[in-house]
Amino acid sequence: MALTGKTAIITGSTSGIGKGIADSLAAQGCNIVLNGLGDQAAIEKDRAAMEKKYGVRVLYHGADMTKPDQIADLVTKTVQMLGGVDIVVNNAGIQYVCPVDEYPTEKWDTIIAINLSASFHMIRLCLPHMKKAGWGRVINLASAHALVASPFKSAYVAAKHGIAGLTKVVALEVAQQNITCNAICPGYVKTPLVENQIADTAKARGITEDDVINNVMLAAQPTKKFTKIDQLSDLAVFFCSDAAANITGTMLPVDGGWTAQ
Ligand code: NAD
Repeated sequence: MALTGKTAIITGSTSGIGKGIADSLAAQGCNIVLNGLGDQAAIEKDRAAMEKKYGVRVLYHGADMTKPDQIADLVTKTVQMLGGVDIVVNNAGIQYVCPVDEYPTEKWDTIIAINLSASFHMIRLCLPHMKKAGWGRVINLASAHALVASPFKSAYVAAKHGIAGLTKVVALEVAQQNITCNAICPGYVKTPLVENQIADTAKARGITEDDVINNVMLAAQPTKKFTKIDQLSDLAVFFCSDAAANITGTMLPVDGGWTAQ
């Protein structure tokens, strides 16, 4: 398999997009380090199932992405237990929606820490191992909001635009060392979190679930289709392939045409 013997850390991989990417990389023979919050028994069940299904090593580390010392421990333990870090997927992220002049400063700080600074820490700590191995892939889960804005999402949009800049700088710095750095920019993705909102929003607004999907959630997406998790995880696998070796510093929208408008 294409990634046999490689090791990938995927932050925020106990749910949604990160979990899908971890699964797809494991299917390619990659050893995996899961990370994220959640019920410890459920996480252990998923970890063991992934290990059994794909015959790869799958570890879990519960580093809180707001804490640089815990992020450092995640990378140190990965290297100790799996011998290196070849692929890092910076995926952990949260959202908070509120007008900027009412935005709680602690929410701003937390979003910048998880959605932006954690990626800086992961990259600065993992790059030396990739340089040593002479190969590496950095994949940042950005967003359509790395390219365009929406109201009431100041911290999220600022963090994701920051990820765009970080992606380009890192790509340039390691361009001649067989290490690429790219960002995936999804539009609306039906993660469990989004799925749960459809019925509630329909009830709150007195409209049908179809109206919520087409006229509320997908108003910005010309295809009127959610991006699927496997469309993102297949893209992550592609970024790790030899075919993508000369693609670096890109912000690739997977947004049904949102940012083409
Ligand atoms: P999700 O809520 O399903 O998963 C988020 C993951 O991050 C979870 O595993 C959670 O435990 C983890 N996490 C949250 N806070 C953490 C912390 N302090 N430390 C460690 N882990 C933490 O969300 P998702 O929809 O899968 O989003 C994943 C990424 O994709 C995010 O960066 C998000 O901004 C981006 N994205 C999502 C969408 C969408 O519509 N769902 C669209 C564009 C971009």
